[in-house]
Amino acid sequence: MNEESNRSGIVVDARGVNVKGVDKSFGDTAVLHNIDLSVEPGTSLALLGPSGCGKTTLLRLIAGLERPDGGEISVGARTMAGSSTWVPPEKRNVGMVFQDWALFPHLTVGKNVGYGLDRAERKGPRVNEALDMVGLADLADRMPDTLSGGQQQRVALARAIAPRPSVLLLDEPFSNLDSALRVGVRTEVHRLLIDLGITSIFVTHDQEEAFVLGDEVAVMQGGRIEQIGSPQTIYQTPSSPWIASFVGDVNLLSGSGNGVEAETVVGGLRLAEPSNGPLQVLVRPEDLALTADGPGTITLTEYYGHDMMVTVELDGQSVLVRAPARAEWMRGDRVSVSYIGEAANAFS
Ligand code: ATP
Repeated sequence: MNEESNRSGIVVDARGVNVKGVDKSFGDTAVLHNIDLSVEPGTSLALLGPSGCGKTTLLRLIAGLERPDGGEISVGARTMAGSSTWVPPEKRNVGMVFQDWALFPHLTVGKNVGYGLDRAERKGPRVNEALDMVGLADLADRMPDTLSGGQQQRVALARAIAPRPSVLLLDEPFSNLDSALRVGVRTEVHRLLIDLGITSIFVTHDQEEAFVLGDEVAVMQGGRIEQIGSPQTIYQTPSSPWIASFVGDVNLLSGSGNGVEAETVVGGLRLAEPSNGPLQVLVRPEDLALTADGPGTITLTEYYGHDMMVTVELDGQSVLVRAPARAEWMRGDRVSVSYIGEAANAFS
């Protein structure tokens, strides 16, 4: 148990979540295979993966909206789903925020927030506390259609936290927002989750969102968890070439391992783990630097403001290099590429 009081006085009893050996099929289609994960109380876990990999199904199993075919799900010390146990969703003390954050259009903001509470609690302090938490205490009497998109999302969040759930589940919470609003709302929700001290699990197919919001990230593919770890671990030491490419720009350079070193198109690199024979060496674009003149030719530049991505054809391989924004590289420039990273990870 991890009881914490935050700036608006809401006390959440954050609980951990454990999923052990969970399987789920729909008809003949196996959608989740032997899922294991554990989320510490008060931390956030991102479920990251491509469309159809089973993220939402896993979230719905934790919420109790689906039943597992095998395995066990517990929240805190309490088993919610297991071979002989089933706790219905409304008894799990788990809040859920859906993709569209839909509010009831015919109810005021206050009534929307009170919707999930017992009748007696709807008139009590919980509605105002939750609205206060999201900075909208003055808007309890307004109708949803008089609010901005960002305010509506905050009301939906207040509705989910008003019953003081031990765990908050969010399904693609920002995917319906346009990109201008998205980053702002994401930062606001991030602050709120930290301030509340609540355990949260959220689904996303967006690597940046998973890294920004998740204390830990579970990367899923084809109904399995491929890797689970901190954003740094997933980015720096991905467990497969597929994960390396899914979580950011990467060069998987063909190389030849010679114990502690590998020979590649960008020269000899130190390896994090000694290896011999043919390798794919993982080199992030920010681990490379360009200098004028040399064997490579720039074939593409993409300017992002904070930096620039440069594609270099080098000895028959296409190499991505992240260059400082002030650099003035142009298509057709001849360049050398050198490695400036730490000891590199490689896949044999
Ligand atoms: P997306 O990012 O596209 O929402 P996802 O990773 O959340 O994808 P799920 O929604 O969990 O994926 O779906 C996983 C697979 O299970 C898909 O192939 C989907 O068609 C299937 N599926 C999900 N729910 C059901 C259902 N109720 N009946 C039959 N098949 C289902």
